[in-house]
Amino acid sequence: MLDCLPKRIEPVGLADVGRSFRGEVPVSELSRLAPLLASREGTLNVQLEFGLDERRIRTLKGSIQGSINLVCQRCLGALVFPIDLRICLGIVTSETESDRLPGGYEPLLVSGEPLLTFDVIEDEVLLAVPAIPAHEGSVCETGYRNQPPAQRDNPFSVLEKLKS
Ligand SMILES: [Zn+2]
Repeated sequence: MLDCLPKRIEPVGLADVGRSFRGEVPVSELSRLAPLLASREGTLNVQLEFGLDERRIRTLKGSIQGSINLVCQRCLGALVFPIDLRICLGIVTSETESDRLPGGYEPLLVSGEPLLTFDVIEDEVLLAVPAIPAHEGSVCETGYRNQPPAQRDNPFSVLEKLKS
């Protein structure tokens, strides 16, 4: 396994020779994800393994792990969303081939042109993001807002002390 991610991948050729890669993807590089994020901090650890399965289907398997900072749709606060994805894609070159993929594989449709590695990863992450991200139960900041504000020293009480 190579300790770097190529910028572009040619899935068919890589599957035929069985190459594997691993590396980090800065969340800030995933531009389609950006509108959903409270902050663009963080990195995702990615493993990509190209190969052929026992039925000679070209596959891209691997994992994406890390976390992203989404916006909670209930309190609009930051929500740390853990990412722990298994990738299991069947590499196909046509819709017909895609329809013939056995269960368990999602299609990765390729045209012969190399794909941007980050695009493939971003597609997987976008699929994992909930439609309406929200904190669970009492973690939500709305819970805090309903509580009375903390007792603070009244600035006038300091003046009262000075007078007396
Ligand atoms: Zn919330």
